[in-house]
Amino acid sequence: MDALIPIIPPQKPKSKLIARISSDLCSGCEACLSVMPHKDCIVKLDSQPHTPFGMVVVDVQNEKCTGCTLCMRICPWEAITMVPRPSAQ
Ligand code: SF4
Ligand code: SF4
Repeated sequence: MDALIPIIPPQKPKSKLIARISSDLCSGCEACLSVMPHKDCIVKLDSQPHTPFGMVVVDVQNEKCTGCTLCMRICPWEAITMVPRPSAQ
């Protein structure tokens, strides 16, 4: 009888782009939080930085972002852009 060889699925390559949220444009509406497909790819900030709206509440976790673009497409304030993934991630 042949020995069973475990099949390891190939890892999907990471997207070369990740989302970035502009604290100058974010209104804190949390629409992006309602569509994010991965747990904690976007998180609420503990402290709110000084911004024109004074209510930025979210930021992208670079290592968890797969570059799906959902958050960018739903953001009503165009506060999210896709930028090159830092080479270390
Ligand atoms: S959807 Fe846009 S404006 Fe709303 S919280 Fe997310 S980044 Fe900010
Ligand atoms: S691009 Fe997709 S994976 Fe990345 S932060 Fe936005 S919703 Fe999450």
